[in-house]
Amino acid sequence: TGIEELLTSRIRDVADYPEPGVMFKDITPLLADPAAFGALTGALAEIAVRNGATKIVGLEARGFILGAPVAVHAGIGFIPVRKAGKLPGATLSQAYDLEYGSAEIEVHAEDLGAADRVLVVDDVLATGGTAEASLQLIRRAGAEVAGVAVLMELGFLGGRGRLEPALAGAPLEAL
Ligand code: 5GP
Repeated sequence: TGIEELLTSRIRDVADYPEPGVMFKDITPLLADPAAFGALTGALAEIAVRNGATKIVGLEARGFILGAPVAVHAGIGFIPVRKAGKLPGATLSQAYDLEYGSAEIEVHAEDLGAADRVLVVDDVLATGGTAEASLQLIRRAGAEVAGVAVLMELGFLGGRGRLEPALAGAPLEAL
């Protein structure tokens, strides 16, 4: 489709970043192009509305850049999920495994509750570890999962399969 071509044309492949052997997908050219950025956030907002989301959760840091305009487009609230130690209020924390070691993400506990249906927004789904941990946070907060929406899914890393149990039937949409 037209939007797929537009978005793909604005993603830059950077070899050996952040370490040798990794081909990094750089979205900064897309952000700098108002037609592409607008098409992306509009398409993500359409996913939010179609799935009845009442909140957008954005994953630090590129999920903030995409998720905030999506929330405004969709007319719903934005909730940041941050790396551990950055939020000032009472938080829920979720640890998850990385290839080497582990990481931890947090959300303000009072920002999500039983009345919420949450769409998780991020730029790239890679192994799925970050998105999986965010779904666990949302459910622990008592909220419902509307789905996960990303610009790009790196299919060869198997993130979709890893996310399946945590999605529990909710959609994973990759543009
Ligand atoms: P995962 O937890 O799925 O392995 O990694 C996903 C997280 O890492 C996302 O928050 C995403 O922003 C970041 N990430 C992993 N690989 C890439 C990449 O090639 N390009 C960009 N822009 N982000 C990536």
